[in-house]
Amino acid sequence: MSTSTSCPFCRIVAGQLPAAVVLSTDHVIAFLDISPLADGHTLLIPTDHYPTLSDMTPEAACRLTQHLPALTSAIMSATGAVGVNVLQNNGAAAGQIVEHVHFHLIPRVEGDGLGFRWNAKTYPTGRAESVRNDIQAALAG
Ligand SMILES: [Zn+2]
Repeated sequence: MSTSTSCPFCRIVAGQLPAAVVLSTDHVIAFLDISPLADGHTLLIPTDHYPTLSDMTPEAACRLTQHLPALTSAIMSATGAVGVNVLQNNGAAAGQIVEHVHFHLIPRVEGDGLGFRWNAKTYPTGRAESVRNDIQAALAG
């Protein structure tokens, strides 16, 4: 197993830091965020150390994300939430603080005051096609 001794999430996996674990398998653990945005705010992480999503193999990503549906349902059931935001901050520019892949599951109710500013924009003519082509080329390797 790949671990990092300086990584707080690897230390949780190793039992060296306490955590309120709600799910534990050979490949993943989920535990309550110690700085929750709401009761039941949970982090789902791989037990192996991957700094970002881009560092994961497709198989490792599947082993991790396969737990999202049941975990989302359980969190809603346990907390009475009527919605859940699933967030994955990938890279410091995206707000990732702990460099060990993690999905946030944040229970939501109407009027809870949480929210995200999207600052949505529109593409100028031709720009969407250009960006699409660049992403397709990158996927093709
Ligand atoms: Zn780690």
